[in-house]
Amino acid sequence: MELRALGSTGIRVSPLGLGTVKFGRNQQVKYPSSFEIPDDQSVRHILAVARDLGINLLDTAPAYGTAQQRLGRLLPGPREDWVIVSKVGEIFEHGASRFDFSHAHALASVEQSLRELNTDYLDCVLIHSDGDDLRILEQEGVLDALRELKERGLIRAHGMSSKTVAGGLRVVRDMDVVMATANLEYDEERPVLEAARRMKKGVLVKKGLMSGHVGGAEGVRASMAHVFSLPGVSSMIVGTINEGHLRQNVALADELA
Ligand code: NAP
Repeated sequence: MELRALGSTGIRVSPLGLGTVKFGRNQQVKYPSSFEIPDDQSVRHILAVARDLGINLLDTAPAYGTAQQRLGRLLPGPREDWVIVSKVGEIFEHGASRFDFSHAHALASVEQSLRELNTDYLDCVLIHSDGDDLRILEQEGVLDALRELKERGLIRAHGMSSKTVAGGLRVVRDMDVVMATANLEYDEERPVLEAARRMKKGVLVKKGLMSGHVGGAEGVRASMAHVFSLPGVSSMIVGTINEGHLRQNVALADELA
């Protein structure tokens, strides 16, 4: 896979990124079927296959259960070979999510992510929105905290995994990267993608396979063709713990991206 610019960050990413929810969390998720969290050997194997196939981008979060600790222990190869995107703001504990977008929590959470991921920098940290994007950006301390962390060199870029068009547009104006939802059944955030392309900001697409509800190989192909036809997409993040699916997705990205 040919790497693409993540907006104007100077970071280059594979057009297909690997989502890691299923590495660490199987409660309160929206996938078609329940699943066991894979053991260390399986996670190590999926990561090695992903790397060998040309994926350099990993999407993770403190809210993905043990995913970050596991990446910290199991990620193969030199750290610089990977682009690690994490998040801040959602806390998943005792089977439920809560949110904290304060300045203090953002600093403490990113420092904890650095420890868990066993690294001294994160390539990008996204605000993990609860849906109230504009309120978070305008009234909470998290945005300033991310700016400070960037100045201190602990994170290379910042952004938001947003849920609204107004929020996504604000992210494109004020931050480096937007993570937006786009798939065959949901096109509302297209103006965000168009604005990001105009302003040369990074775009990560989430839920491009509708969290797995796309109906077989043809559905996966049609979904990926759709996402890669959208304006401004830097990378489509697809979560999988199945090696066959991973290989299929990379082959499609090679053909369609
Ligand atoms: P998704 O990527 O649309 O779908 C993932 C699901 O699709 C998994 O259940 C996976 O199952 C299945 N799948 C993957 N490849 C497949 C294939 N070739 N054939 C059939 N099924 C396939 O949805 P998502 O996990 O909700 O989102 C992707 C990533 O985006 C997440 O891992 C996460 O990193 C990120 N995300 C972020 C947010 C946020 O608010 N920031 C929200 C949602 C997601 P198998 O394991 O069986 O392959």
